[in-house]
Amino acid sequence: MLSNFKGLTFDDVILVPGYNGIKSRQNVTTSVELLGKNFGIPLISSNMDTITETEMANAMTDLGGMAILHRFISIDDNVKMFRNLKNKDKVAVSIGIGKDGLDRAEALISAGATMICVDVAHGHSKEVNRSIKTLRESHGNHVLIIAGNVATYAGADYLAAAGADVIKVGIGSGSVCSTRIKTGFGVPQLSALQDCRKVDRVLISDGGTRFPSDAVKALAAGADFVMLGGMLAGTDETPGTQIETEINGKKVKFKRFRGMASKEAQDDFMGGMSDWKTAEGVSIDVVCKGPMKNVIQDIMGGIRSGMTYCGALTIKDLQRKAQFMEITPAGRIEGTPHAIGRLNEPNSN
Ligand code: 5GP
Repeated sequence: MLSNFKGLTFDDVILVPGYNGIKSRQNVTTSVELLGKNFGIPLISSNMDTITETEMANAMTDLGGMAILHRFISIDDNVKMFRNLKNKDKVAVSIGIGKDGLDRAEALISAGATMICVDVAHGHSKEVNRSIKTLRESHGNHVLIIAGNVATYAGADYLAAAGADVIKVGIGSGSVCSTRIKTGFGVPQLSALQDCRKVDRVLISDGGTRFPSDAVKALAAGADFVMLGGMLAGTDETPGTQIETEINGKKVKFKRFRGMASKEAQDDFMGGMSDWKTAEGVSIDVVCKGPMKNVIQDIMGGIRSGMTYCGALTIKDLQRKAQFMEITPAGRIEGTPHAIGRLNEPNSN
């Protein structure tokens, strides 16, 4: 059976400009309210082992965003990492399913964690439902539960019904993810968000954000927050060591960035790849980018400017006013810097 729901992603659409009554892009508000907590910027650093540990979490929360610590360490080290944070109330911790997940949650909640992210590759599943229900039964509304990942209304609704406050959306859209080529499953990110937003919960767009414009489109399509992996990879605040290499006589610094379902990550955390499994992520070296603040400023500049292109004072306003237009490949090419290529064409004098 072929679904008549056409899947679109960021590059398939453009936001159509609308009337603007806002004097300056400085006047827009980018803050998001999350059950009593206020975040100045709608960005989250991804819970990957090459993205978010203490340093990234501190930097991200200092700038007004949220961070989610990864869970690929022992429970004791996870607790130590959480205790060392500067702004604990703006950082969530991650758990997997089953006993380890619930033990980890209990240890971290005892250490003061109030936001728990139940995070698995395919969140529309019974085990995730069980973990959410157990957490809710033991801690009531003292913990905020983030759950994912899903990419459909049915998945988001299932997690909301189980008791999740926040739904993380994205299957197969990540920059180091290979789920779609390995399994054939996933939903293009923009359509996934538009489908999931029918559920009355806070949404995180997770995966596929490559440019500031992708973040603007994700927010306009219904996300309250945008989670960043690849865009933050290689910044100073990410875990891991810098490797210096010489390329064409130039010294270049790299850092490792890897999918959590890559062979390399599974070798480190699961004692190797089981023979019944295939890796659903890749490991790459990315060029070091300097302070994460520069990346965040660039994204926030795009979001603020984007909001004024349709006269939106708040993110909710952007969601109400945004009008997407589907574009052709030619339209997409026109919308990316192309003057330099023209000058280099052989017949252009
Ligand atoms: P990015 O911002 O790099 O495009 O996407 C980051 C997101 O990719 C993460 O937050 C996570 O949801 C997802 N991800 C991380 N590692 C893997 C992996 O190995 N496989 C898959 N399928 N997704 C991954």
